[in-house]
Amino acid sequence: MKSMHSIDISTVEMTLDIMKYAINRISNTSPDLGSPKKEEDLLAIVGETVTKDGIGGEKAFHMFRDVLAKATVPVDHPRHLAFVPAAPTKAAVLFDLVTSAASIHGAYWMTGGGGIFCENQAMKWLVSLTGLPEGAFGVFTSGGTAANLSAMIAAREAWREKEEENKAFKALLITSSGAHSSVKSMANVMDADIVIVDDDDEDRLTGKWLQNTIDNLGVIDRKRLFAVVATGGTTNAGIIDELDSVADVCKKENLWFHVDAAYGGGALAAPSVRDLFIGIERADSITIDPHKWMFSPYDCGAVIYKDIELAKNAHSQKGAYLDIFKDEGAQGFNPSDYQIQLTRRLRGLPLWFSLAMHGTQKYTEAIERGLELAQNAAKQIEAAPHLELVREPSLSCVLFRRKGWSPDDYRDWTYENHKAGLALVTPTKWTKNEHSETISRFCFINPDTDEEDIKEILASME
Ligand SMILES: *Cc1c(COP(=O)(O)O)cnc(C)c1O
Repeated sequence: MKSMHSIDISTVEMTLDIMKYAINRISNTSPDLGSPKKEEDLLAIVGETVTKDGIGGEKAFHMFRDVLAKATVPVDHPRHLAFVPAAPTKAAVLFDLVTSAASIHGAYWMTGGGGIFCENQAMKWLVSLTGLPEGAFGVFTSGGTAANLSAMIAAREAWREKEEENKAFKALLITSSGAHSSVKSMANVMDADIVIVDDDDEDRLTGKWLQNTIDNLGVIDRKRLFAVVATGGTTNAGIIDELDSVADVCKKENLWFHVDAAYGGGALAAPSVRDLFIGIERADSITIDPHKWMFSPYDCGAVIYKDIELAKNAHSQKGAYLDIFKDEGAQGFNPSDYQIQLTRRLRGLPLWFSLAMHGTQKYTEAIERGLELAQNAAKQIEAAPHLELVREPSLSCVLFRRKGWSPDDYRDWTYENHKAGLALVTPTKWTKNEHSETISRFCFINPDTDEEDIKEILASME
């Protein structure tokens, strides 16, 4: 009997088929947008696919290629401007295939050494962008959510170590209303409370507002307070908090200062906006998602610590069968010591290969292109009588309204364009002075998007 892991002629054909698909997909810069279907409709077309005897690779693959993949939206479509899209480089996607094929366990240097070396080379560049001092370093995670959680846990453990009394308190952290939803859910996961600070007139968290909030806390709440989470580019609007003045307050109040730059972190490599991040070099920890604006395939986040030893205290796992990995022969950097996950793929490898191949300057250019597209979109919006900017673009996010439209109009327009394969642009909400409005939003990541794409999309709103 053949085992599942052996190869015969038919699997060779299937292998070639799959490789051909992968190569075609990687080289196709403008795939079909894909249209969503209900689960029961998909089931009606392909039938049950997991059976006792298997349906065969050829059949399963063709179903995926011809039906199921078409019911997805490729994140790298140049007219996918919703949420935070992505645009992994070809080099990075190719190396994602290699990362799978190489079968490396990325938790410990003993098993992953050479691969972790590559990840660390890429990490060294990320850390250099932040301006954090010597001794700062980080590790790749599954995304911003895991990076934020890892950082907050490290912060809480450091706070508990500081004073015996702190162990008795339920921890409390402060963030702003523009913070990503994952900050709130991760506080829930770690059973910490959250206080949300109002923003200033420019919709940013500032030291002044932060200090105000801290001064108004009760005695016990002040004791429970261990960290502040600022945002380096809000997901909805691209707004960067006033990091420097927030850092001042954190220093004065002896609080852990975390900057969530999951989306905006890419812009640290863009000289035209780098000044907006002044103060980030004073953070205790920073989240950056290479799978957003650093052209990595999913999933790749990063958490960086000013003092990486503090993260080790919080995250290093102990277990009888794990001790060997910390032995003499295994001396080296163990990524599992610095974030919540043990077994991990070398998810920083695709980024490393692409950086090694292209050099960092190409990254700067591609990120600047996203910023330029946002400015161009703003110009086109201002010139169109039926449209109006809600605010000047921040980073690569553009918020705008179609005069006279109701929330239903935005929704219908989104669905129509998606169905027609034109674009995926989704509405969002913008709240100002307690007034909440449904509006439209672009987020530019993909350097293959062009001015014509923007023009065509805006024209469809007439
Ligand atoms: C996207 C995002 C997150 C969540 O990151 P995932 O990679 O989706 O887990 C957190 N914070 C900010 C600011 C984000 O933009």
